[in-house]
Amino acid sequence: MKRRAFLSTSLLAGMTPRVLAENEPLTPESPGYDKARQLFNSDLSLRPAFILPCRNERQVAEAIGFANEKDLPVAVKSGGHSFAGFSMNEGGVVIDLSTCSQKVYLPQSQRLHAGPGAKLGTLYDVLLPHGRLLPAGSCAGVGLGGLTLGGGYGLFARQYGLTCDHLQRVRMIDGRGQVIDSEDDPDLLWACRGGGNGNFGVVTSMEFMTRPAPRVLGAQRFSASVSTPARAVKLMAVWFEMAATLAEPIFSAFILNGKKVTILLTSSYATSGPAFQRAVGTLRKAGCASKGAANSPLARALKRYYGRPGPLPFSNCSGGYYRGMEDLEGVAMQLAAKVAANPGLIFQVNTLGGAIARGPESAYPHRALPFLGEIQSYWNRASQRNKLVGAVKELRVAISEAGVKAHYRNYPDLTLENWEESYYGDSYRKLQGLKIRYDPHDRIRHPQSVRLEEGVLP
Ligand SMILES: Cc1cc2nc3c(=O)[nH]c(=O)nc-3n(C[C@H](O)[C@H](O)[C@H](O)COP(=O)(O)OP(=O)(O)OC[C@H]3O[C@@H](n4cnc5c(N)ncnc54)[C@H](O)[C@@H]3O)c2cc1C
Repeated sequence: MKRRAFLSTSLLAGMTPRVLAENEPLTPESPGYDKARQLFNSDLSLRPAFILPCRNERQVAEAIGFANEKDLPVAVKSGGHSFAGFSMNEGGVVIDLSTCSQKVYLPQSQRLHAGPGAKLGTLYDVLLPHGRLLPAGSCAGVGLGGLTLGGGYGLFARQYGLTCDHLQRVRMIDGRGQVIDSEDDPDLLWACRGGGNGNFGVVTSMEFMTRPAPRVLGAQRFSASVSTPARAVKLMAVWFEMAATLAEPIFSAFILNGKKVTILLTSSYATSGPAFQRAVGTLRKAGCASKGAANSPLARALKRYYGRPGPLPFSNCSGGYYRGMEDLEGVAMQLAAKVAANPGLIFQVNTLGGAIARGPESAYPHRALPFLGEIQSYWNRASQRNKLVGAVKELRVAISEAGVKAHYRNYPDLTLENWEESYYGDSYRKLQGLKIRYDPHDRIRHPQSVRLEEGVLP
């Protein structure tokens, strides 16, 4: 297989790292250090020895050479939204790609060329004026790099597929400091569609196909107060049954927060359509109230889901993938009681399925599972923290004990046992082979990066 060697580690070891000359590396003594190590999750405080801001491939290769010279581990940061802080480390090197954020849309090919540091909000600003869309997450500050490399779903994933399914070409500087282009090595594209987060290299550029953007986004929000866990569970069952039959342009979320259930429906078609109205009828019949539907121009509608700018303290993790309510049956009452007893604790389920199930063969292993749960907790006062962190873990363990084993890599959880299989399923062995090929000295790593294992063939 043809692979272009760009800058080898040994070459880099002998040269003055230009990244250091051009872009001052930040050390704990540097004035900008604390700002640069700030992650979206302000509950985390990690102190790397060096933060190397990199704008392009050459600077990344030199930064990896620098880390190899110093024999320090490398963490990779794009948007800094990792729940568990996998884009920062303690005492190592951080390659910070927040300024590697170019976004160029080519109308002829309808492709988007983007740097991993591009934030989702700015991406929509570039594509929507052309009437195009990259299906991605909704929060404006999330980085395209981390989102894509772990999967990436949002309001349009059922209609078009995951963000990573739209990736057509990718370039990466691997742990040896060599440039790998997926045009030469298709395994890289396979890996970066769901299995590329900080595992064996630094992705420096991505090329995506885009989709037609709907002119408007329809949305309707429902709510119901749930005075008992049994009522919450009943509504959850109604929602799962309704959501299983939704048309693909419709997305839905079920959110249990304290003693309140909120259900969101969005659609790329007008909310007056029969499929949307069927869902509305089911929710109304179940006792959910709504102020009515809104059909707004897409750019305006998306901004409603941009989220808080942060940083803010939280503890979130995957609640697992489900086939339907049957996977939560054994734990649903306990789950609802725990959320009611812990203000600040939220359990949310989002719809997947649709086009995701028909996506390309890739490292993302969960295509057959049409629902994804997320456990969230946010606090305003530090005194609330430990109770909420404990409640998140207890809830996740209870869900695991009920038999839910598959989890979303982009919703990581440090306390998850058997994370290799939970995140990657059958793809893990092949990812281990690629780890040996691209990063045989485990230069690129974080607490749940793909492990080197002897005997796995590259
Ligand atoms: C507020 C919020 C909203 C979210 N909404 C959604 C959503 O709607 N849909 C969804 O699917 N997910 C969502 N997520 C999860 C999100 O997809 C992940 O947190 C994602 O990994 C963040 O990417 P990042 O670049 O911002 O984070 P970072 O912390 O910079 O990186 C995350 C991971 O990716 C690795 N990585 C980053 N860049 C590179 C690179 N260039 N090369 C190699 N590895 C790299 C890092 O090492 C780290 O392991 C949300 C998260 C938050 C906090």
